[in-house]
Amino acid sequence: MPNFTFEQSGKIVFGRGSLNELGRLTASFGSRVLLVTGRSFAVNSGFLAKILENFREVGLDVTVFQEVEPNPSLRTVERGVHVLRGKSVDVVVGFGGGSALDAAKAIAALIVLGGSPLDHLYPRSVDRALPIVAVPTTTGTGSEVTRYSVLTNPLEKKKVVMQGPALVPKVAILDPDVTDLMPGRLVASTGFDALSHALEAFISRRASPLSDLFALEAARIIFNNLPSAMRGSKEARELMLYASMLAGVAINQAGSTMVHGLGYYLTVHHDLHHGVANSLLLPYSLAYYAEKGGRVSELAEKLGFRSWFELVAAVCKLADDVGIPDSIASIGVSAGELDAMVEEAFSYKRNLENGPVMPTPEEVRNIYAMAFEGRRGFLKSLTH
Ligand code: NAP
Ligand code: FE
Repeated sequence: MPNFTFEQSGKIVFGRGSLNELGRLTASFGSRVLLVTGRSFAVNSGFLAKILENFREVGLDVTVFQEVEPNPSLRTVERGVHVLRGKSVDVVVGFGGGSALDAAKAIAALIVLGGSPLDHLYPRSVDRALPIVAVPTTTGTGSEVTRYSVLTNPLEKKKVVMQGPALVPKVAILDPDVTDLMPGRLVASTGFDALSHALEAFISRRASPLSDLFALEAARIIFNNLPSAMRGSKEARELMLYASMLAGVAINQAGSTMVHGLGYYLTVHHDLHHGVANSLLLPYSLAYYAEKGGRVSELAEKLGFRSWFELVAAVCKLADDVGIPDSIASIGVSAGELDAMVEEAFSYKRNLENGPVMPTPEEVRNIYAMAFEGRRGFLKSLTH
C-alpha cells in the first residue's frame, strides 16, 4: 500500500430541491453576500429571481455580479471585486458552470488578499479567502469541490490557475433541477471534462488508493449514462451531476495531466469548450501513457475492459455517440499551427509533469498530429 494524504473539506448537499437550502446555508457565514454568476443562464432560467427571493426570506443583503463569461478572464475577476466599491461582504456564492464558480472563488480570495490575480497564481497557494458557497449548473468541472480556480490571461492568451485550500467551497449544493435545462451539447461537452478528470486522476503520478475510488466510480457512471443524459434523461443527468463531483474530488487529490495541458491551446486560440478540447486529446494521450507503462491497463481492467485498447476504443465510441467532432482539423486547427501548439503545451508543465511520464516535444507533436487526423484513422491504426 503506498503512502498518501487525502484532504477534502466542505459540506456537500445533494438532491432535487436542495437549492431551496441556499439562503439558510449561506446565512451561517454572515448576512452580506456577493452572488457571482454568468450573463444569461441564471437570469433567463428564472433561477436568479428564485435565489434572490430565497436570500430575502432569510434576511441576506445581496450584491449581484452577473458578468462572468465562459473561460473567465483575470479582468472579470478584478471587476467582480470592484463591483463592491469597498463595501464589506461575509461570503461569496457562485451559481453557474465552472466559469462562474471559478470566478467566484478567485473573487473570494482577492477580497481578502488584495492585489491582482497575477500576484496569487500557481505555484503560490491561496490559504485565505472569504467562505465560498458553490452551486454548479453544469455536469463537468467539479469546481464545487476543488481547490482550483482556472482563469484566462487575455494578454498572454494563456490559461492560468489560482489554487489552494481556501478555494475549496465550504458548501456545495448539487441540485439536479438546475441541469434540466442544459442543452444536450453542453451535457456532452462538460461530461467529457468529467470523464477526463476521472481517467487522468487515475493515471496521475499523485494518484492514491482513495483518489482511485472516486475516479473509478465517476468513470463507470459516465460511461453508462452520458449518452442518455445528453438525450435528456433526468435520471442520467442526476447521475452525471454526482459523477462530475466525484471526478472533481479525484482531481482535487491527484491533479490532471497532459490531456488538460494540451487542450488549453484549443480553448484559448480556437474558443473551443474545455470539455471538447479534452475529448479531442483523450484517446491519443491514453494510448501514449499506456505504451509508456502508465496505469492505463489497470484502469481498463478495473472498468471492466479486457485491455487498454478496449478502453481507448470505448472512449472513442462514447465521443462518437455524443456528437464530439472527429478531429482537431474539423474544428478549424491548421497543420501550420503544430509547432506553436507544441511550444505552448510546454508552458503548461504543471499538467504535463503530473502524468506518469513527461513527454518529449516530439511525442507531444505526434499526439497533436494524431488528434489532427482524427479518431477514425487512429482506431484502425491500433487494430492493424
Ligand atoms: P461554463 O463556461 O461555465 O458555461 C458554458 C456555458 O453554459 C455558459 O454560456 C453558461 O451560460 C451556460 N450554462 C451554464 N449552466 C447552464 C445550464 N444549466 N443550462 C444551460 N446553459 C448553462 O462551462 P463549464 O464547462 O461548466 O466550465 C468551464 C470552465 O471551468 C473552464 O474555464 C475550465 O477551465 C474550468 N474548469 C475548472 C475546474 C476546477 O477545478 N476549478 C476543472 C475543470 C474545468 P452563462 O454564461 O449565461 O452562465
Ligand atoms: Fe477540466
